[in-house]
Amino acid sequence: MSRAPYASFNLAAHIGDAPAAVEANRRRLARATGLGPDRLVWMEQVHGAEVATVEDPRPEPVPGTDGLVTGAVGLVLVVLVADCVPVLLADPAAGVVAAVHAGRVGAAAGVVPRAVEAMAAIGATPAGTDALLGPAVCGECYEVPEQMRAEAEARLPGSATTTRRGTPGVDLRAGLASQLAALGVARVVADPRCTAEDPELFSHRRDGVTGRQAGVVWIEP
Ligand SMILES: [Zn+2]
Repeated sequence: MSRAPYASFNLAAHIGDAPAAVEANRRRLARATGLGPDRLVWMEQVHGAEVATVEDPRPEPVPGTDGLVTGAVGLVLVVLVADCVPVLLADPAAGVVAAVHAGRVGAAAGVVPRAVEAMAAIGATPAGTDALLGPAVCGECYEVPEQMRAEAEARLPGSATTTRRGTPGVDLRAGLASQLAALGVARVVADPRCTAEDPELFSHRRDGVTGRQAGVVWIEP
């Protein structure tokens, strides 16, 4: 329902899109899950490493957090992105899921290990956990200064790349896949799509003012 520059399935409020359009898009997302809009839990994402465990619906976004964990059935965890990596985690046997916002800063701060720890606190195990890394800006597009690449590589080994232009770059999904493997998460799948290259996806890096897509995870009732 959103119009340019948020066209058309923008799910983020507070980035300048018409509230009625965002609300209609969110209702559509809720319908796709088969659950009511009140079952969707949102985060006020701040590129940090805070992770919140939630067991009940929230009328407002969880403040200042970049990871949500739940063991509650039918509670839909939502992460908003437009180049950062949406990381979805699930331990089906334990009945624990997580949605994580992992951009360069949050990933370096350790938001993904924090989420894996929070999942373990309510019964999940890394060996029993599946991870999906959603669409994000790819290592051939994500150009950064040399020092930033070195810092990313130090905090998130495996993330240093060279871009298509031959300049220093960062591949967050490669770094996160290595990190998850090191944590003992055996099954890691990455959606290969690059937000900056795929016109079907929002990319902050490509377009500046734009919308946000969502990664969602929930336990089926
Ligand atoms: Zn790319």
